[in-house]
Amino acid sequence: MDIKRINDKISVSPQITTSDVSALNELGYKTIICNRPNGERGDQPGFDEIKREAEKFGIQCVYLPVTTGKIMDKDGVVFRELLNDCTSPVFAYCRSGTRSITLWALSSADTLSYESILAQSKCAGYDLSGVVSRLMNKGKTPTSNVDFEHAVVIVGAGAAGIAVASSLKKRDPNLDIAIIDPADVHYYQPGWTLVGGGVFTANDTVRTTSSVIPEGTTWIKAAVAAFMPADNLVLLDGCRHVKYEQLVVCPGIKLDWSKIEGLSETLGRNGVTSNYRFDLAPYTWELVKSLKGGNAVFTQPPMPIKCAGAPQKAMYLSCDYWNQNALLKQIDVDFYNAGAVLFGVTDYVPALMKYVEKYNINLDFSHQLIAVDGENKIAKFKTVNNDKIDIIEKEFDMLHVVPPQSPPNFIQVSPLADDAGWVDVDQFTLRHKKFENIYSLGDVMNAPNAKTAAAVRMQAPVVASNLLSDRGTNIDEAIYNGYGSCPLTVERGKIVLAEFGYGGKVLNSFPSWLIDGTKPSRLAWYLKEKILPPLYWKAMLRGKEWLTKPEKNLPPNSK
Ligand SMILES: Cc1cc2nc3c(=O)[nH]c(=O)nc-3n(C[C@H](O)[C@H](O)[C@H](O)COP(=O)(O)OP(=O)(O)OC[C@H]3O[C@@H](n4cnc5c(N)ncnc54)[C@H](O)[C@@H]3O)c2cc1C
Repeated sequence: MDIKRINDKISVSPQITTSDVSALNELGYKTIICNRPNGERGDQPGFDEIKREAEKFGIQCVYLPVTTGKIMDKDGVVFRELLNDCTSPVFAYCRSGTRSITLWALSSADTLSYESILAQSKCAGYDLSGVVSRLMNKGKTPTSNVDFEHAVVIVGAGAAGIAVASSLKKRDPNLDIAIIDPADVHYYQPGWTLVGGGVFTANDTVRTTSSVIPEGTTWIKAAVAAFMPADNLVLLDGCRHVKYEQLVVCPGIKLDWSKIEGLSETLGRNGVTSNYRFDLAPYTWELVKSLKGGNAVFTQPPMPIKCAGAPQKAMYLSCDYWNQNALLKQIDVDFYNAGAVLFGVTDYVPALMKYVEKYNINLDFSHQLIAVDGENKIAKFKTVNNDKIDIIEKEFDMLHVVPPQSPPNFIQVSPLADDAGWVDVDQFTLRHKKFENIYSLGDVMNAPNAKTAAAVRMQAPVVASNLLSDRGTNIDEAIYNGYGSCPLTVERGKIVLAEFGYGGKVLNSFPSWLIDGTKPSRLAWYLKEKILPPLYWKAMLRGKEWLTKPEKNLPPNSK
């Protein structure tokens, strides 16, 4: 027997035999529901046989047969009434368990959110994306079928969504593309480090979404809620359907502020800030300027996060300001890092360590921020020593927090996700591993690259080429080499420019006599401050693929 527990009240399983009934009794089940019509296959025990056996143990048995692919809304209602009337825990079965869990899902749709139903079903090993529109519509089949229909649909109008739409339009100006995103504004997030360092203003990093949507592209201003890849449909909040021929999924990464107890209540006050939010980055700079002494604490959560260098960039720029203003001696600086190393690619660590020493920073590895008491200015960290968990408290005058990060919920519960919840793509072609007409790029997918806008710059032409090649356009397939870049702002005016691909292979864009990435460079700072922002707005978001060289061939031994 392969019992899949959904919750305390109900479990489902594939077909059982009479000999399984005593085990079900021992496990404490009080009701058995059979959802498989008798005689579906010759080798299947009939309901009456199961019932006779169950009655020996005083287990109630109910017959509610449904046919695969023909589960009606009213079946969900009957199942709900049954669950209300029968003694729990209930055990329901059919051939594979799918019909039973579908009935449970439809019966629960007016009390549970569709996301929670999909998550519980996924945990039990079932994919209910085929009925997601009914789950969103409280268990009833929606009346409208398709509200929008486009050749290519892109989910997310962030760095990745706009860049890939522009790269597609550049190659095929007549391609019918829609981008779905509910946000009114588009951010240049790499600029937020420089906002926190007093170099840019917040306004330098934002434009309206309408101004970045490529010409001739439809913007559907809504949030995507779910995917039905077998029907080439995405569902929007409010249960509207968007039909596609090809889909590109790039809604970014979720910032889990609420995973740190007390943080949300105190962000933006009590000396607690983060460059990871547009509205808070200016507060970082305010705090840096006003701190004259005490404890400055910077944190880094477990990987993966977007721009893995950003937690320490904020720290170096702050230290540089305090150093320039002869305040650093009065300020104790701590870097509490949930990871075990300063930076994932070792080539860049010596240059960074020189700054750690120069600024006299205490490095605390394997320390994860778990709670913040803003009023009393105390940060709490979890650390593991010889399998023993210790909780450390640290007083602060300024606290810069980088939140834990995860795939967006609607991605995690979707059939597009891998076991960890990220969109599951081939790391070279960026095509979905299971659904050939789906691509993904940016922070949301599972290729093992650094999650950065620089990576997106390289990924967008790869996805555009491969997607169009699938449509029959005469374009060669392109290969993504894992390129990502992290300009580590070690002081105002100098950057350690980390550029690397899969496996930490260094992939410099410039000859080393011009910029040696392993050393602090003034030119790299100039690039970050003066060149990269216009490169983003005027080139990357407009299909001008500067500083991108997608590979043509797979690396050796990659298959
Ligand atoms: C502080 C900071 C510093 C950084 N520094 C650098 C740097 O120096 N260099 C660098 O290259 N990168 C840097 N990055 C990382 C870079 O900004 C991201 O990697 C990049 O923006 C990822 O692009 P994306 O399109 O995947 O996600 P995003 O740009 O975040 O866009 C996601 C879009 O999806 C939309 N969306 C979300 N949910 C839905 C939904 N349900 N339906 C429809 N749309 C949805 C959102 O509204 C958003 O518009 C930094 C990031 C931060 C926060």
